[in-house]
Amino acid sequence: MTKKYRIKTSCPQCGCSEVAHLSEAEMKKRYGDVPNIELDCHECMMRMDADIEEDTGSDG
Ligand SMILES: [Zn+2]
Repeated sequence: MTKKYRIKTSCPQCGCSEVAHLSEAEMKKRYGDVPNIELDCHECMMRMDADIEEDTGSDG
C-alpha cells in the first residue's frame, strides 16, 4: 500500500483554496524530502504555504 497525502493550500491574497491528493512517491518526485511545501497560487501567483495531512482514504 502506498501512503497518500492531502495537500491543502489557501492563498492569503485572493483567498482561493485548493486540495491536492498525492502519493508518497509523487510527493518526493515533485517536492523532494522537504517538510515544508510552498506553492504558487494559480490565480495571483502569490507564494503560499501548504498544509500536508496524511490521506486516510475516508471522505471527510
Ligand atoms: Zn491567490
